[in-house]
Amino acid sequence: MNEYVYGIDIGGTNIKLGLFTLPGMQIIAVKEIETPRQNQETSIFERIGSVISEMNQENEIDFKQVKGVGAAVPCPVKNGHVDKCPNLKWNKLDIIFAFNKVLPDHVRVAVSNDATLAAYGENQVLEKPFKNAVFYTLGTGVGGGIIINGEILEGATGLGGEIGHMRVFDEATETCGCGSQGCLEQICGTSGIINYAKELSLSSTSSIDFKNISVKSVFDAAKAGDKVGLQVINRVAEYIAISASIIAVILDPDVFIIGGGVSKAGSFLVDLISHHYQNHARFSSYKIPFLLATTGNDAGIIGAAYLIRKQI
Ligand SMILES: [Zn+2]
Repeated sequence: MNEYVYGIDIGGTNIKLGLFTLPGMQIIAVKEIETPRQNQETSIFERIGSVISEMNQENEIDFKQVKGVGAAVPCPVKNGHVDKCPNLKWNKLDIIFAFNKVLPDHVRVAVSNDATLAAYGENQVLEKPFKNAVFYTLGTGVGGGIIINGEILEGATGLGGEIGHMRVFDEATETCGCGSQGCLEQICGTSGIINYAKELSLSSTSSIDFKNISVKSVFDAAKAGDKVGLQVINRVAEYIAISASIIAVILDPDVFIIGGGVSKAGSFLVDLISHHYQNHARFSSYKIPFLLATTGNDAGIIGAAYLIRKQI
């Protein structure tokens, strides 16, 4: 009898579910649904439970063959407990207990932070996973995941890997979502990128269409040699490099992996980060390479599936 696990990535807008074979971890089906808006402490789990039943039927799988469910959540999580999740209306929630209520008793559940699981997934699909890796997720915000000795770093309170909230600059006038100022996310997150491009355009001409501006259009302009675009991407790359140079003297990882939507800028961005990193790295940490993530939007479901496979 074939066996399976589900990897689920719960986001504020969408929930993605992936069905994986055991032990080979082949993805055999993926489904994306909208995140329920009301009563999220119960509705999200009920909806996931019914979509899993649907996917089982569609793939002619009996629930007995499903050994576990791994879930990625968009907030700090410790031992399956969430204190507060700003992207979802969750307060003091035991995620594993909430899943147990909608799944048969034999199904094991594991949960961790989404960026952390993206790091784990990205690393696990490599032919030879790194022992120590630091993963940047560059999107609307800047997330991170840290793998130490092959294990996910959750930390004492679940905050491990929140590298977007490292204080890297002093001239901040705006307050970050975390309540502090000068965070990496304020420069390298979507609004930081767009606002800086707009600011530069006041004193420079640019080919960017500011009425329909997006991170992609800024980066495309940079690739085409636009001065404003280049200045923006250069600042993003330099601050990621500065933050990485700080992480390097603390963790000395084998690798930095760059993922998330912004990383679609590709090797252009990674090469620039590496270039700046050489100027900021101390001691032997200049040798640590930067790689571009390869799993794209599936990193979360893959990491969640690998997490539960490990615990079965
Ligand atoms: Zn912050």
